Amino acid sequence: MTNGAADTPAETDLLTRCPRCRYRLRGLPVHHTCPECGLELDRRWQVFGGQALPGSALRHGRPIAYIVLAIVVWIAGSTIFTQLSSGRVTVFGVMTVGGSLAAGAGIYLTSFRRPKSFIALAPEGLIVFRDGQPPETFPWSDVGRARYDIASKSLMFPVGKRRVRLPSMQFFHWYIFELDRCVRAINRYPRPDEPPGAANQSASRASPSSIDTRGS
Ligand SMILES: [Zn+2]
Repeated sequence: MTNGAADTPAETDLLTRCPRCRYRLRGLPVHHTCPECGLELDRRWQVFGGQALPGSALRHGRPIAYIVLAIVVWIAGSTIFTQLSSGRVTVFGVMTVGGSLAAGAGIYLTSFRRPKSFIALAPEGLIVFRDGQPPETFPWSDVGRARYDIASKSLMFPVGKRRVRLPSMQFFHWYIFELDRCVRAINRYPRPDEPPGAANQSASRASPSSIDTRGS
């Protein structure tokens, strides 16, 4: 475990925005409480998901989201129109309109807003912040190799005998490539008992069911 002033990182290597509320953190101490939302944070964290989801990720998904929203609005609109013009409101019509509105709201929240849950890679361990719950810290010595589990659409990693499963929608919305970045960063993060570089060796022992996320 390293600490002390000797390895105080440069300002450019530190977190620039609060992962919960996006408050600007430039110039603030490494350890502090976010002045805006009260999150106790360490600016050395590498954050994935939540407010750390890059704007470019959101912009990439938007064209598809607009198309889906247009289809949903068209279905709702044409259903309302046919119901009104026929002078008869049917249960099927009401359900169609209700379902369309719910689908539209879901698309909006997951394609235009950032998720509320996030993952922080901290010097003391991997910290999971689920929306509305106290954070959970897993020491690096216990965290095994992370992978994306396609069947459950989750980021999974073993902690001792336990298997932690983080649903990708909750942390990354549709942005699987952000989850992929997170998986790679977890597997790259130096473990306390390993000399630098050993993380790469353990990364090569991938289980057959995991996606090989080591790219260029
Ligand atoms: Zn904050």
